Amino acid sequence: MLTFEELIEVKRDGRKHAVEEIERLVHGFVGGEMPDYQMAAWLMAAYLRGLDADETVWLTDAMARSGRTIDLGSVPGTPVDKHSTGGVGDKTTIVLAPLVAACGVPVAKMSGRGLGHTGGTLDKLESIPGFSVVLEPDAFARQVAEVGCAVIAQLDDVDPADKMLYALRDVTATVPSVPLIVGSIISKKVAGGARAILLDVKVGSGAFMKTEEDGRTLARELKRVGEALGRRVRCVLSDMDQPLGMCVGNALEVREAIATLRGEGPADLTTLCVELAARMVAMAGGARDVDAGRVLAAKALGDGDALERFERWVGAQGGDPGVADDTSLLPLSPLERMVVAPSGGSVSGFDAEGVGRAALALGAGRTVKDGPIDRGAGIRLHAKTGDEIAAGDALATVYASSEAAIEDGVGRFLSAVQISEALTPRGPLFQDV
Ligand code: URA
Repeated sequence: MLTFEELIEVKRDGRKHAVEEIERLVHGFVGGEMPDYQMAAWLMAAYLRGLDADETVWLTDAMARSGRTIDLGSVPGTPVDKHSTGGVGDKTTIVLAPLVAACGVPVAKMSGRGLGHTGGTLDKLESIPGFSVVLEPDAFARQVAEVGCAVIAQLDDVDPADKMLYALRDVTATVPSVPLIVGSIISKKVAGGARAILLDVKVGSGAFMKTEEDGRTLARELKRVGEALGRRVRCVLSDMDQPLGMCVGNALEVREAIATLRGEGPADLTTLCVELAARMVAMAGGARDVDAGRVLAAKALGDGDALERFERWVGAQGGDPGVADDTSLLPLSPLERMVVAPSGGSVSGFDAEGVGRAALALGAGRTVKDGPIDRGAGIRLHAKTGDEIAAGDALATVYASSEAAIEDGVGRFLSAVQISEALTPRGPLFQDV
């Protein structure tokens, strides 16, 4: 049997691992036999040399089996999961979970917290008074069966390999590697029990994949590996060159999700949610095809079914369902400042990552591991790419709890918005499906 040092040598020298070697790396690391520094060296070797098609499948499989796997066998129908590769203002899960459930397809989802400049669904949901993201696996499956949806935090003993590897990748400059991202995302989904997975691969200045070509490569690999492990997988490539919707920040995004469930959401968010819901419903067999799924999703938004499901879901997880009717129950930071356009013309684009970082500076995300966040902080945009503006027009309203945070957030936001004298066309929301 090779030592861990010899296993690092195999990858350092660009050779292919055998399946037993990958298993040994993953299980040795999770079991505490292989220390962080050796795994960090292997991760950098894998980042630089790459993993081939087989190695990526073996890694994903070993990670998925590194802890407990969730059995959703008691849930009637095909539980479907959706995962976004990460963006700014991405509150789609909060709309999709009740929307897809209202179309008759169960949604069982484990979500994450904010990562880097991107916000996390759990942090957003926890801005609803009383909402708990911690459920035992049995209660999780029961809620999906009874209410139609549940969104919870990753359980500690489900895919522990991903939690440990991710924490190490985050601090060793080994995050943007296609095989490592694929292993991370697909292993979580497989361990979480979903049979059908829809992946929303974000592309652009606010995403981890900045170019369409990189997004396509990631999408192809996610699909190949998910299918090799027996899951039904579809990918959508969607735009992350500007924030999604008009709000960035936890409670602000919940407000916007509720407006969208009422049929009163911004056009880009509504379109993305309807398109993703249509695919989730079709994949799970709840509609004949995507067109039929789209009709069901649009109807559920229009007739109040999705909003009613949201109330039941929030109530089932201990939250105050009254937020659906009265969003003033959600926190809002006490200080607010209007950010105005320094010159006229049109908004020609955003550095969406910069907008995410402005929201962090306002207090909407963590600056240290497990640090506090200000759930009422964030940015409400008044203009998006292609909108005409005059000098002095409102570009955004920002919210925070201190003057220092407001100053920092406003400065960062202004550097992340581009204004040109000429008119700018709006880009497409979807690159590909
Ligand atoms: N999202 C994940 O869950 N894992 C990654 O590695 C990157 C994005």
